[in-house]
Formats: sequence, structure tokens, C-alpha cells
Amino acid sequence: MQQDYCLIETPFEYRNMCWFCGELKQFMFGFPHAQWLVLHCTHPPVEVPCCKECYIFALKAKVDSIWQVNIHVKQQLIRHYKKDLAIGLNWTKEELENSGFEGGNFEGFQRSAWLMYEIAKERVSYTGWALVVNGKELLCAEDKDIFEFDGLTYPTIDDAIQHYAQTFDLNTDFFKKVIAEFGDGRFGDAVRFCRLYVGSTPQERNTALNQLKR
Ligand SMILES: [Zn+2]
Repeated sequence: MQQDYCLIETPFEYRNMCWFCGELKQFMFGFPHAQWLVLHCTHPPVEVPCCKECYIFALKAKVDSIWQVNIHVKQQLIRHYKKDLAIGLNWTKEELENSGFEGGNFEGFQRSAWLMYEIAKERVSYTGWALVVNGKELLCAEDKDIFEFDGLTYPTIDDAIQHYAQTFDLNTDFFKKVIAEFGDGRFGDAVRFCRLYVGSTPQERNTALNQLKR
């Protein structure tokens, strides 16, 4: 089945960039497409320039709109680059430079790690340009809010929670409850608090939560 896509008026300066992550364009990704049937797409069929990696992720998204595809692609990028993204959670640039890895087996790691972190962070945080069809901007109908923390933009707060829980081995349920007590604006405090309870028993976590609530 050949899909007729609307002409998206891609601004000239973005014509060679991936709409999802800002890398160099290699393909055009159209949505909806023949491999995934969408009965109630909220926007006209559209096509955006796309890098190879995002294209592969995008094609597997079983969702209803190009904006949901974008969320899916970002989630896959976070998953795929979680080790690179964790660099910035564990070190600052200066700490890594002074980490004493030079001369040993990890010298290569020290050289490339910060760069890898910055590239991954920029790709995940990248916001594509407005999609314009026939002079009219398509409005994003997603109700989920993006979440920004420590220089990284996550598609949703749940993605940030999952990323930090995995990186620091936090108990996800406990972490969520602590955020509920602290509020989204104190995400960093919630991370620090929960890191005190890595390896704790359910009883210890319950006690901590009760103390927070008081
Ligand atoms: Zn991309």
C-alpha cells in the first residue's frame, strides 16, 4: 500500500536533519505507514526527515500519532544509550578529567565518555521543528508533559524515573512515592534521598516514607 503523505514544509536549515534527534538525515519517515494500521490518526499523513537509528525505532512504534512516535523514539534512545547518559549522572566533566583513569585500561573511556554523554544527551533532548502542512501548523495532541532535569529533556517524568532508578539501582516504587512527597520540582532531592536507601529492606523504606509524611 502506497501512502500519500502531505508535504511538510521543512524549514531550509533543517532539511538535512533528523526531526527526532537532530542528527544527519538518512531517510524519510512517514506516518501512518503500511506496517502499522492506525484507525484514528489525529493528523494528516506526514513525512519527516530522519536518521537511520531513529528510523528503525520509529518504524516499530505501535502508536497513533507522529508525536507518540517521537516519544517512543526518545524512550528507545534513552534505553540504548543508558550507559552513556549515566556518565553525566556519575561525574561532572571536571571530575571525569581528574578521575585518574589516564594511563590505565580505562584511558580510552576517560577520553570519549564525556563526548558520548553529550551527544546522547543532545539527541534525547532535541526538539524537532513545528510540522506545517499547507501553511498550517499541526498541533501536538499529546497530553503527556515533557520533563526536564539536569540538562536532559525526557519525554515524560516516568522516563526520568526509570532512567535514574536503573542507573542508581533505586527501588522504583519507593522512588515514585518519595517524588510524590517532595514534588516534581525536587526531583534531585528525591534521587539523593533514595540513594541513601539502596539495598534497604521494605520495612526500612516504609519507615523512611512515614517519616517524610510527618
Ligand atoms: Zn535521529
